[in-house]
Amino acid sequence: MKKVKAAVITRPGEIEIQEFPYPSIKESDMLVKIEMSGICGTDKHTYKGELRQYAGTAAEEDVPLPVIPGHENVGVVAEIGKVAKKNLEFYGQELREGDRVVICPDIICGRCWYCRHIAAYPWCENIKSYGVTISCSDPPHLFGGWAEYMYITSNTFVFKVPPEIPPEVAVLTEPLVVTYHLDKAKEFYSLGGEGFGTGDTILIQGVGPLGLCHIIKARIMGAGQIIAIDRSEYRLKMAKDFGADVVLNVEKTTEEERIEKVKNLTKGRGADIVVECAGVPEVVREGIEMLRKGGMYFEVGNYVEGKEVSLSPHRHMLAKSIRLIGMTNHPYTGYGPTLELIRRYLDTIPFKRIVTHRYKIEKAKDAMLKSMELESMKVVIVP
Ligand SMILES: [Zn+2]
Ligand SMILES: [Zn+2]
Repeated sequence: MKKVKAAVITRPGEIEIQEFPYPSIKESDMLVKIEMSGICGTDKHTYKGELRQYAGTAAEEDVPLPVIPGHENVGVVAEIGKVAKKNLEFYGQELREGDRVVICPDIICGRCWYCRHIAAYPWCENIKSYGVTISCSDPPHLFGGWAEYMYITSNTFVFKVPPEIPPEVAVLTEPLVVTYHLDKAKEFYSLGGEGFGTGDTILIQGVGPLGLCHIIKARIMGAGQIIAIDRSEYRLKMAKDFGADVVLNVEKTTEEERIEKVKNLTKGRGADIVVECAGVPEVVREGIEMLRKGGMYFEVGNYVEGKEVSLSPHRHMLAKSIRLIGMTNHPYTGYGPTLELIRRYLDTIPFKRIVTHRYKIEKAKDAMLKSMELESMKVVIVP
């Protein structure tokens, strides 16, 4: 019988290469041959045993190991059921074997209060995510992208990729959709100066792949000055190449120096928007200190429950009248526009440089360790 190879996180710190039976598909489902699957900060948290997601909500859950990781996926349709052919693609395009697709990892129930009330954001009480919160214990097992094939069920948001977008760029679709935080900030924009206005100063804390995607998006959306903060000189250099004007290395500056520098760059006011993409609880206070009065702070990176940090309700919230916005997940309505944006900017933005390291499934552990090094940007599994 044909087997499918996959990398499995069996317990924290442990990645095993396992084989699963090649599945037969239902009429409403499909099987995707994975071309590339990215490593995200969430995968690093899982690997480190930081498993609790959506803490304090109805969706609170610990990642149900064993899991085949991989939620930033691009691949081609390997087999597709009769019904799925007509119904599965988000915009109603017919899918055929060989078509390149990207897959939104989040599966929602469609029936809970959040699904009924909050359009496009998967804030579902019963959310399940490919490569994150679906265990590979039960058949058909193949619910993550670090595998030769992935099994896609009928309730999945699937998007056909325009033919001119190659896999090493299409694999960035998911993190680029996560930048819809900035679109959210645009929604808040008013002529009184709230939210993200044209020419505003945007500060990104942490410029790994997600921070880099925010720089790209902020630039496209009409940011003025973009400031990037990180520990890695390698990443800060890339941040500059992709549109950051000023970079600050945490290893070479003190917190006070960084705050002062940001104030100096903004006529003493502070940044209009700060986005936390470091996934480090301790940076939140510093980020708020760098924000101007009435500025907007986005908490994006701390995807799992971690340390608590202290804030002064007066100094950090009231006195500054800040808008403190926590944003989990990304909107499935963002995939179509993001693919269009990628297609449109393919010649002007060097997207192909963002994937810096590629590993076979057998080397998934090396890939994970590489993604935690300072000298890497997007690390991907290429089955
Ligand atoms: Zn992710
Ligand atoms: Zn729901």
